[in-house]
Amino acid sequence: MAYTALYRKFRPQRFDDVCGQEHIVTTLRNQINTGRMGHAYLFCGTRGTGKTTIAKIFARAVNCESPVNGSPCGECPTCRSIAEGKSLNVVEIDAASNNSVENVRQIIDEVAYPPVEGKYKVYIMDEAHMLTEGARNALLKTLEEPPSYVIFILATTEAHRIPITIMSRCQRYDFKRIAIDVIAARMKQLTDEEGIEVEDKAIKYVAKAADGSMRDGLSLLDQCIAFEFGHKLTYDKVLDILGAVDTSVFERFLDHLLADDVKGSMALIEEVVMQGRELTQFVTDFIWHLRNLMLLKNSDDGDMENLLNVSAERLETMKAQAARTDINMIFRYIDVFSELSSRLRYSTQKRITLEMYVIRLLRPQMDTDNEALLERVRRLEKLTEKIERGEIELKASQAVAAANTVNKEEKSGEKVQLTRAVPEDIKRVVREWPVIVGKTGFLTHEILRKAELSMGDSDRLLICLPESAPDTLTRDADIKKEISELINDHVEKEVPLEFIRYSADRSFGEQYADLKEILHVEYLEEE
Ligand SMILES: [Zn+2]
Repeated sequence: MAYTALYRKFRPQRFDDVCGQEHIVTTLRNQINTGRMGHAYLFCGTRGTGKTTIAKIFARAVNCESPVNGSPCGECPTCRSIAEGKSLNVVEIDAASNNSVENVRQIIDEVAYPPVEGKYKVYIMDEAHMLTEGARNALLKTLEEPPSYVIFILATTEAHRIPITIMSRCQRYDFKRIAIDVIAARMKQLTDEEGIEVEDKAIKYVAKAADGSMRDGLSLLDQCIAFEFGHKLTYDKVLDILGAVDTSVFERFLDHLLADDVKGSMALIEEVVMQGRELTQFVTDFIWHLRNLMLLKNSDDGDMENLLNVSAERLETMKAQAARTDINMIFRYIDVFSELSSRLRYSTQKRITLEMYVIRLLRPQMDTDNEALLERVRRLEKLTEKIERGEIELKASQAVAAANTVNKEEKSGEKVQLTRAVPEDIKRVVREWPVIVGKTGFLTHEILRKAELSMGDSDRLLICLPESAPDTLTRDADIKKEISELINDHVEKEVPLEFIRYSADRSFGEQYADLKEILHVEYLEEE
């Protein structure tokens, strides 16, 4: 059995079948019932919200010999001839490709002749904002005083591009994005009628992906059904087929970041990877999510909301998230992820690069630029507030530890200083050392955890191990090679390397220049 697309098969034929634009349908119906139609209409709204569909029903209804509650009956000869495309009373024009003065003149010429059958000639002009200036001017007069038997319906996705001269001559109707529940209910109804089995969760997902457009929703659903024809359509299948990023993933991702939750962030990245999503795209989409939050935070009485292009439901969750996010935090995240986005393009290890950025973001201790320092100050302030409010108590042991550190520093001897600047790539290795170490095998990892970093002649990176550590590293060429490659991959540059051992009876800094200290880098203990 061949499969007919739901979108074509179930194009609404009556006002009753139209979903989600009740305010418009009711008004148009009343006009038809009372015979008080206008002569020019402007339908504005994003794609797939029913502008053309409603225009067509309206065109049939005004011509129908016995309309039923404002809708075309579908039975009378006029209804039939329009449905079969034989009638000259309904003319559809795509202004995107017929936008010249010539095209408009042709319409004006036709308009002069009354309809042969039926009552009205209805001109439906799609993408009306595409008309050239000349074409618009040519149309103005006819639009202002058309013959009594003519109705113009202009449809546009970009109302702001319709000049006021046209706008003022039309009754304007704004088509809303359709709510997820409304789209889902319609999908459920159609699949039931077709005897197609679909999981509710699958429908809900597709409805959400449609982002307010019934047409997009139905064609997405069509894609899924065609793919799985004859089988039950499950949520997992839909995710597979659409491969699109579930928008809630961005909200969850940001929540993890805001909560400093490294584990949760990594699990989410894992989830995204397992779903086969492209990481560069994922990051780009996430930046858009942040951008939307930024606009929302700067929106007075909702004036920015139109710029977001998201459904009402999504807007609500985004508003809630914007409310609990600090604007400076959003700026910083946009910076960091934009930088990441350009790096990902050239990265051969996209996942690792993404993970590294996330860890750096959540562990500003490893970063020493101004933004990161500000971030640390913010965190300290937050912590101080909590302590002042009594939510956190400093433990005695922590106080003792802090005191000890001070004592130790007082006792320690002269520190070895560097006489030259540290090259950028070595700086990066030092800052991101835990990430690099995290990529090594278990045994190497255990040894490297105890390593300190310094710099030798000709800018060699010195990986320094205490004498007490096993000397596997310094002897085993394979391990040395593994580490060297990891470091080179990480900074995308060859870093000369040497392993050395330092004595246990003095502090490391007294024997070698301690890069961690010189660069003011701290690592958090592993969780
Ligand atoms: Zn009829």
